Amino acid sequence: MELEDHAEELASALGADKEEVKADLENLLSYSVPVDEAKESLRRKYGDGTDSSSEIATKQIDEITTSDSNVSTTVRVLSVGQRSIQYNGDNHVIFEGELADETGKISYTAWEDFGLEAGETITIGNAGVREWEEKPELNLGESTDIEREETTLSVPFEVGGDATLAELEPGDRGINVEVRVLECETKTINGRDGETEILSGELGDESGRLPFTDWEPRAEIEEGASVRIENTFIREFRGVPSVNVSEFSSVERLDQPVEVSATAPRYSVRDAIATGGLYDVELVGNVVAIRDGSGLIERCPECGRVTQNGQCRSHGEVDGEDDLRTKAILDDGTGTVTVILDEELTAEVYGGDLAAAMDHARDAMDREVVAEDIASKVVGHEYVVRGSLTIDDYGANLEASTFGEHDEEPATRAEQFLAEVEQ
Ligand SMILES: [Zn+2]
Repeated sequence: MELEDHAEELASALGADKEEVKADLENLLSYSVPVDEAKESLRRKYGDGTDSSSEIATKQIDEITTSDSNVSTTVRVLSVGQRSIQYNGDNHVIFEGELADETGKISYTAWEDFGLEAGETITIGNAGVREWEEKPELNLGESTDIEREETTLSVPFEVGGDATLAELEPGDRGINVEVRVLECETKTINGRDGETEILSGELGDESGRLPFTDWEPRAEIEEGASVRIENTFIREFRGVPSVNVSEFSSVERLDQPVEVSATAPRYSVRDAIATGGLYDVELVGNVVAIRDGSGLIERCPECGRVTQNGQCRSHGEVDGEDDLRTKAILDDGTGTVTVILDEELTAEVYGGDLAAAMDHARDAMDREVVAEDIASKVVGHEYVVRGSLTIDDYGANLEASTFGEHDEEPATRAEQFLAEVEQ
């Protein structure tokens, strides 16, 4: 069907002016809205003739479901984040965050600037309901009315986006954190407008550590600095939450250094895997085996991937560069993960560096001796491992930052065991 026909059909069904409907339809399609969705949205805008009660239901947050199309509700604004997105090559600023009443909270996206402020109580007339990550989310747009209420709604949630790193989840928006910059490096990426510089690294506070990206590099963010960052949003990066600092974020240096926890939270392997990924975690278990691809390996000089028989998956036959790596299977009785030790940690358990491993292999005329030697040293021993856990289709991998033999006093372990049982 042509646009003309869609407009005709809609206009007559809705009893609206055809040219007006056509213009609206064209506008929506120019934003790449699928035609069915565009028509649905216009049916709502002009009021569907088949629905005599075009009144929008007023609901409390816990009553809103993904099967609602439009609702009205009185809520307290918990947070207001700002983000720029691309729509057909144009930059468009949207506002997002959370709203709450006494029954619960809900995420929202405002496609226009309603001047929302955290803490204020508003009545939203005609918000669209959209499903986002299997939960309802409110969309505030052209047909939405916002009315400021004089009486402040009291809600069982904290107003404002202050959070600790451990509380953050992908999808959180309008978040403020007070953190120490633990690692920070400048990277050049191919962005929307050609090559741009960004900052990336690691942030820490008392609750934990997370990676971050600053898309508009700021002088306040440098290694060792303690900062308050307002209006960030959280995205998933390699299975863990990542703090995104955007053009709308503000960064302020803090006079007092932010305390950073020296240890990572300890999990059982099963619980760690159940989280879907943890940026900084401690596991304790027995190394039960060493996997293929351990010991003396070769990497593609172009992409760093491990080569098989001199072949890179992306670059074909290459002259590989020697490296050391260990992939150890750690088992704590609740599950297993593959712990990956880099060159440095592998050298520690092997008891020799890359050059020593090369000599060893040359003398034995077999590269496998290095992996065999590593296996004989670690298999059957219990280790405390700290690192970053990612889960993908191939399993759970823990990129280790520290790897040490477990030598806790039996008494401490008994106490820990009891504490776990009591939980
Ligand atoms: Zn390659």
